Amino acid sequence: MEKRILLATPTLHGEEAQYIQEAIDRNWVAPLGFNCDELEAGVVRFLQQDMHALALCSGTAALHLAVKLAGIRPGDVVLCSDMTFAATVNPVVYEGGVPVFVDSERDTWNMDPQALEEAFRRYPNVKAVVLVHLYGTPAKTDEILEICRRHNVILIEDAAEALSSTYKGRQCGTFGQLAALSFNGNKIITTSGGGMLLAKSPEMRNKALFWATQSRENTPWYEHKELGYNYRMSNIVAGIGRGQLLHLQEHRDAKERIYRRYEEAFRGLPLTMNPYAADSVPNFWLSCILLDAGCGVDPLTLMQKLNEANIESRPIWKPMHMQPVFAHCDFVSAAEQPVDEDIFARGLCLPSDIKMTEEDLSYVIDTVKAAF
Ligand SMILES: *Cc1c(COP(=O)(O)O)cnc(C)c1O
Repeated sequence: MEKRILLATPTLHGEEAQYIQEAIDRNWVAPLGFNCDELEAGVVRFLQQDMHALALCSGTAALHLAVKLAGIRPGDVVLCSDMTFAATVNPVVYEGGVPVFVDSERDTWNMDPQALEEAFRRYPNVKAVVLVHLYGTPAKTDEILEICRRHNVILIEDAAEALSSTYKGRQCGTFGQLAALSFNGNKIITTSGGGMLLAKSPEMRNKALFWATQSRENTPWYEHKELGYNYRMSNIVAGIGRGQLLHLQEHRDAKERIYRRYEEAFRGLPLTMNPYAADSVPNFWLSCILLDAGCGVDPLTLMQKLNEANIESRPIWKPMHMQPVFAHCDFVSAAEQPVDEDIFARGLCLPSDIKMTEEDLSYVIDTVKAAF
């Protein structure tokens, strides 16, 4: 195929340009404008929970402010999902916190509640837990929440990949005291780059707003008692988000159709799709496969074959405890062999771009099949 088939790229609709134009027409392109307010209100309406939203320049910024709100100080232990993007963990280290990585379970590929229990046994003074819903698949959230409550520890949800995923009928990002969303270019909806902090309490949201706007005290001159950041989303960028939000459900449904098509087409091959639990409805942000052990095909070889056919694929997120930058950090597993190492060794993310045509999808499927 001449054009390259990609994992996930922005899908725009037209309303984005209208909201941007409105910002330009009203000469309101600088930060803190009506598009930011409307995007925040729109996301909260979508989530159908009493959350307080703050539009920011990235999901990483949202996680950073969440870590600060959780009161992480140098030396504090934070238990983190191990199989994830480094952006989940980096903000813990910005604040001098010590990440301890928690293995995955097989049912959802997310944080294993049993391993979390074990981590609490090893580290009695944990300050917070950062839980990811990987690839838009909800984690075993109730189990994790129950453990956090019992230990009186804050849960931060990294829902960067999971906007519109539900767990027991409730939207991801509304379970933790704090949560982060991402509107990066590859996510289910995008603002080109951007993110959002979700907080249960308005006080927390206001404190984050204070930090995100350089911690300016309420004086006529610029008075600073605390370190500040320039983390707010611009009104232009938020206009893209408002336009995208109108199509969130449609994007989700298109993602699910891609997953179902792969699932159906790969029946009989020695592989399984990324799993999810019966009590949750993922947004199917990325469709992934797990090759059966000993099936004779490994992810990197398959990736190479797909690449030769001009199809992008990518290994599963490499676990944080295997990353050189975090080599000094502890890792806790409840299994004999780390579950996430095994998923990393056998998994591959497939094109999940909702602009793929039926022909594109068939081409990807045929190319995968031909590798066996
Ligand atoms: C994308 C992503 C982030 C970071 O979001 P940015 O907007 O790119 O800063 C954090 N965690 C996970 C799991 C992500 O996929």
